Amino acid sequence: MKIAFIGLGNMGGGMAANLAKAGHAVHAFDLSAEALARAGEHGCATFASIREAVAGVDAVVSMLPNGAIVDRAYTGDIIGHVPVGALLIDCSTIDVATAQKVGAAAAAAGYDLVDAPVSGGISAANAGTLTFMVGGTDAAFARAEPILAAMGKAVIHAGASGTGQAAKICNNMILGATMIATCEAFAMAQKLGLDPQKFYDIASISSGQSWSITTYCPVPGVGPKSPADNDYRGGFAAALMLKDLTLAMEAAAQAGVKAEMGERARELYEAYVAAGNGAVDFSGIIRTL
Ligand code: NAD
Repeated sequence: MKIAFIGLGNMGGGMAANLAKAGHAVHAFDLSAEALARAGEHGCATFASIREAVAGVDAVVSMLPNGAIVDRAYTGDIIGHVPVGALLIDCSTIDVATAQKVGAAAAAAGYDLVDAPVSGGISAANAGTLTFMVGGTDAAFARAEPILAAMGKAVIHAGASGTGQAAKICNNMILGATMIATCEAFAMAQKLGLDPQKFYDIASISSGQSWSITTYCPVPGVGPKSPADNDYRGGFAAALMLKDLTLAMEAAAQAGVKAEMGERARELYEAYVAAGNGAVDFSGIIRTL
C-alpha cells in the first residue's frame, strides 16, 4: 500500500521504517529536516509538506506530540486532501475529546479514522513490538489491523472512536500510581532493614506484584535490566508520564470520575518534572523518596 507517515520522531521514526520494511511505499513528512532525512535512510520517500505526502495514498498514519497538533494536521491538511475512502490512523497519545472530534470530522468527509495509541516505548517502536489499542468502527478496525500488525506485536480493538485513547490513559494512570507505590515500598523496605533483592524476591511473587516491580524495577541491580540500571536514562521520560496523567485527569473530570490516586500521581510527577527531571525515566522518582 501507499501509506503517508506524519511525525517521524522518537516513536514515528522506527514505526515508519517498519512499514517500509514490510513492503509498503511510505510517504514521509516531519517538520524536522533531520527526522525526515533519517526516514529517507530507512526506505521512506520524503515530502515537503503534509499535503504533498498524503496526495494519492491509500492510508495515513500519524505519530504527533499532542491533540492540538493532531487536530490541525487532520482538519487542515489531511481531511479533504487525501483521496476519499483512504484509511486514517492516529497513533499519537491525545485527549479523548479531540480524538472523537477528529474521528467525527473524518467520518463526515467520507473517511474511516481510528485512534490507535501505543504501549511500549522507543525500543518497541524500533523493534516492531508495540501494542496498539484501537478505537473505531468494526470495519475501520478490520482495515487498520494489518497495517498496525507490521509495527506491533498486539493490535486490540478497544471499541468505538476515542476508546483507544481511553484505554491508553487508564492504563498509564495505573502505571503512574503503581510506580510511585513501588518506589515508596522499596525505599521503606530498605529503611526497615530489608535487602532490596530479598524484597523483590518476595513482592514479585506476592500480592504487591505489578509490572512496575517485575519488568521495570526502579532499584538498580534488582530484577531484569531496566532504566534504573542505566542511571534512569532512556525508557519512558517523566515528562511523558506527566502528559498522560494530565490527559487522564482531564478525562476523569469530563466523565465525573473521582480518581484520587491518579491525581496524586499527577501532582508528584508534576513536581518531579518541575524540578528539572522531565527527561529522566519516570522510575527515577524513587530518588526523591
Ligand atoms: P517526538 O517529539 O520525538 O516526535 C514527534 C515528531 O512530530 C517530531 O519529530 C516533530 O518534529 C513532529 N511534528 C510536530 N508537529 C508536526 C507537524 N505539524 N507536522 C509534521 N510533523 C510534526 O515524540 P515521540 O516520543 O515520538 O512521541 C510521539 C507520540 O507518541 C506522542 O503523542 C507520545 O505521547 C506518544 N508516545 C510516546 C512514547 C515514548 O516512549 N516516546 C510511548 C508511547 C506513546
